[in-house]
Amino acid sequence: MMITIIGGGPAGSYLASLLAEKEVTVFEEHDKIGIPVQCTGITTKALAEILDIKKQFLTNKITNAKIIAPNNQFIEIKLTQPDLVIDRAAFDQHLAEKAQDKGAKYHLNHKYKSCTKNNGKLELHFDGEIKNFQTDILIGADGPFSQVAKTTGLWKERKFAIGAQARMLIETNPETVEFYVNQGYFGWVVPESEKTARVGIATYEQPNEKFKSFLKRIKTETNSIQEYQSGMIPLHDPEIKTQDGNIYLIGDAAAQVKATTFGGIVQGLMAAEELSKAICHEKDYEKLWKKRMGRDLRIGLMIRKKLDKFTDEKYNKLVELFTQERIKKVLEKKDRDRPSRFILELLLKEPRLLRFLF
Ligand SMILES: Cc1cc2nc3c(=O)[nH]c(=O)nc-3n(C[C@H](O)[C@H](O)[C@H](O)COP(=O)(O)OP(=O)(O)OC[C@H]3O[C@@H](n4cnc5c(N)ncnc54)[C@H](O)[C@@H]3O)c2cc1C
Repeated sequence: MMITIIGGGPAGSYLASLLAEKEVTVFEEHDKIGIPVQCTGITTKALAEILDIKKQFLTNKITNAKIIAPNNQFIEIKLTQPDLVIDRAAFDQHLAEKAQDKGAKYHLNHKYKSCTKNNGKLELHFDGEIKNFQTDILIGADGPFSQVAKTTGLWKERKFAIGAQARMLIETNPETVEFYVNQGYFGWVVPESEKTARVGIATYEQPNEKFKSFLKRIKTETNSIQEYQSGMIPLHDPEIKTQDGNIYLIGDAAAQVKATTFGGIVQGLMAAEELSKAICHEKDYEKLWKKRMGRDLRIGLMIRKKLDKFTDEKYNKLVELFTQERIKKVLEKKDRDRPSRFILELLLKEPRLLRFLF
């Protein structure tokens, strides 16, 4: 049984390594895995629960998170388990090497174009040396604008945030990540070291103007920019179909992204695990991934929809509420990948938060 994965990003390559005992082929449009980088690469400890963290792709560990309001009031949270900052190019390359070591075949410089059905098989068409390729199972791990979804009837109108980010020379406290909550954008400074950080914003419109005004806000000049790493982030949508017969979507292609902080690395890996189980044990993939993370993604989306309507003043009040020790304690202990596990506790500790959400 031939399994074909389109996209050699983290979701595609991790899935390829999980399925590598079968016949797996990965097609990637770029000539090098992991390049260009369009990601900040910060994850919670959940990443270490899924795979071994190797020195070769670990850039930094974060033990404090600062959430900063428009009026510059902030809360500082001590993370009981450090966040990890990874080098996305090295991370993607590591996962692809692992998959190849286990037997998966990779074809770089191959852009998937379309698919036709042929006597129960799927015939895939590419721009690249191989023009046509037959497969039994097709998996779209091809990122936010999934061509697999678009050419197999799984595409549904999606909303995107624009992630405008640059690697910058900037003095930081290397142990502290800063998140800026504002009307109109969500900003971050994720340190790589004392001297460099990944600085960015996620917004729905005017990313360049907002990025420049964010740099002013953090008192940084554009001439400290080393490299732009911008990209699009799909907003989660529970209505997106992620499976049709033997065609599947995972990761950004399936919009499996946290709408609160726009992170999707861990979610793509979790989806890969669930799809590998579904294929190996003939289970329903959608049921499996929704059971594992559907509720958290839906709660994240609900929170995002509320936050998108916040004024600066409302953000100021929210951060003020969060400065209370009893609230901070909940945030310190809990995993932000899993809002379903602490939202109730937060609301019970501070019922005024209900007014913000409803
Ligand atoms: C600015 C920015 C910052 C971010 N920061 C974070 C963060 O800090 N933490 C976090 O968890 N998430 C972050 N994300 C989100 C994260 O990058 C994605 O969720 C993650 O990359 C999804 O992995 P994936 O494997 O599904 O897709 P991708 O990483 O997008 O990989 C898709 C692969 O498919 C290939 N491809 C696409 N089309 C084709 C085609 N037609 N044929 C062949 N190959 C194709 C692409 O070249 C790519 O290699 C950020 C995103 C952006 C834009």
